Amino acid sequence: MTTKARSLTTQQEHDIDLMRAAVERDLALWWHQNARDLPWRFGRTSPWGVLVSEVMSQQTQMSRVVGYWEAWMNKWPDATALAKAPTAEVIAAWGRLGYPRRALRLQECAGVVSEQYHDQLPHDYESLVALPGIGDYTASAVMSFAFGERVAVIDTNIRRVLGRAFLGVESLGGSTSPVERTLAWRVLPEAAAQSVVWNQGVMELGALVCTAKQPGCDSCPLRSMCVFLAAGRPGLGERRTRPRQRFQGTNRQVRGIILQSLRDLPDGQSVVTYDKLRELWPDRAQLDLCIDSLEHDGLVEIVDGHAVRLPQ
Ligand code: SF4
Repeated sequence: MTTKARSLTTQQEHDIDLMRAAVERDLALWWHQNARDLPWRFGRTSPWGVLVSEVMSQQTQMSRVVGYWEAWMNKWPDATALAKAPTAEVIAAWGRLGYPRRALRLQECAGVVSEQYHDQLPHDYESLVALPGIGDYTASAVMSFAFGERVAVIDTNIRRVLGRAFLGVESLGGSTSPVERTLAWRVLPEAAAQSVVWNQGVMELGALVCTAKQPGCDSCPLRSMCVFLAAGRPGLGERRTRPRQRFQGTNRQVRGIILQSLRDLPDGQSVVTYDKLRELWPDRAQLDLCIDSLEHDGLVEIVDGHAVRLPQ
């Protein structure tokens, strides 16, 4: 049995139903004692602030996001403010969060929220998931964390924890399987308020304790019930379908170097010359490829043949 199976067996459904109340109780207790005090949690920001935190946290650790999120929300506290910001400033403020196209998509999203929804995030899943750059995960997270609705939030951490704790198997990675979706909804508490704590608690447990390679089972609140632990943690960490991509020497690294050189320019300067870029990355073919791809993505403009600047 793997999480790639199409549906839960009757026996699994029975076992899950026996476990879930105790898991919910112990997990909620653990969450209240261990949740990180992140600035977008506990009702301290707007739904827009929650959305920004979720977009920034995709593929970037939450602890790294905090400083960027605070500076960003100070500068652009709502969608309208972000929509009106110069694109060069938006790209610069994204800093070293990585995958900078997310910044452009977020600004595009801000434009739609500002114009079509009068600066208020829509309060329904279908409208959220239709916004630029917003997928199933982010729409579900906003519905749960910002609006307190009962929605199964399904990300990598949640899939891993639920697969291990309730089914005793590793999540295989890739896209969410039908059985993972069924499981996430089956174990979600009925009451909306409890479902929010559940989503946050499972996700936090996956980030801090039930990690991919070295789960801290000794300190886990679910250790007395976890099916994976009881089975001897079969195949621990072996099933990750996409090994982490090497970063050194990749186009991603070169694109990051080019953007960082633009962010590092002193006030009053906006252009980095090609000669300067060659000093930073001598491989001319790769450098040219990366300049072209950044221009294609709308992240830089090419001036005077080969020099670059942030979009004006
Ligand atoms: S006991 Fe271990 S494998 Fe099970 S949920 Fe906790 S950390 Fe994960």
